[in-house]
Amino acid sequence: MERQEARNIAIQSLLENTSNRDFFTSIFETYLNQGYNQENIPVPSLYFDNVNENNNQVFIEENVYNELLKIREITQRTNNEIPYFLIGYEQSNGAIVFKSILADVGNNSNREADFDNISDYLGAYLESIEESDIRKFGKPIICNGHTHGLSNVSDNFSFGDMISYITFKNNVRDYMQDTNRNGINSQIVDTMGMLMNPCGDFNLVYYDDNPQQIGFYKFTNVFLRTHDNKIVLLPSISENGNYIRQDGIRQTK
Ligand SMILES: [Zn+2]
Repeated sequence: MERQEARNIAIQSLLENTSNRDFFTSIFETYLNQGYNQENIPVPSLYFDNVNENNNQVFIEENVYNELLKIREITQRTNNEIPYFLIGYEQSNGAIVFKSILADVGNNSNREADFDNISDYLGAYLESIEESDIRKFGKPIICNGHTHGLSNVSDNFSFGDMISYITFKNNVRDYMQDTNRNGINSQIVDTMGMLMNPCGDFNLVYYDDNPQQIGFYKFTNVFLRTHDNKIVLLPSISENGNYIRQDGIRQTK
C-alpha cells in the first residue's frame, strides 16, 4: 500500500470515524496552525476507544519484558528511537500474549525509528513464525513497536505512526497472500502497534480495518507475566504521561 493511500485512511479513521473525531480535528488544526508537519502531529491514544472487551488484555512474558527494558534504557541514554517487533498470539479467550522480540539496537545513529533495517528481515521472520510452535497456542500476532525519546511528540504516538500501522497491516497481509499463492498455507497473522514513551508507559494499539468498525483502538490492561506465572499490571496511558488534555480535564481510560 502506498503511504498516500494509508494517509487518507488514517485521516478518515481519526477525523471522521472515531467517537472523539471533534477532539482529533481540533488537535490537527492546532498543530497545523503552529506549522507542524502533518506526520509529526501528536496523536494521544488516550482518546481512542478501547478494543473489544474480550481482547483488552495483553500479557508480556518476562523474557520479552526484560528486552523491552533494555531497549527503553538505550533510548533514555541516547534519545534515539528504536524499532522492534513482538511476536505473540491471541488466546482462545481473546487475550494477547507476547512470547518473543526482534530488535535492531545496533544502529543508534538515527533519532527517528528506522524500520528499514528490521523490515528487511520481516519476510524471514514471518516464515519463522510459520515454522514455530506459536500456532499451537493461538492465532499469531506481530506487533510493530518503537520507542520515543524526548521530542514534540514524546509520550504520544505521531500521526506518522498511525500511517505506518496501516501500511504494516497491509504489507503483512500481502506477504501472507503471496506465500499462500506459492503453495505455503499461511494463516492470516494479525498486527498491532506499540509505543514505549519517555513517561514509562507501555501503550498498545490495534488498527481494525473491518469496514464496520474501521479505526484505531487502545488496550488498557497490559501485564507482565513472570516466569513463575505472576501477573503484574504495567503502566499504560498513565497519569504521568504528557497526553494532550481536553478542556484541562483528563479523561479516564
Ligand atoms: Zn513514533
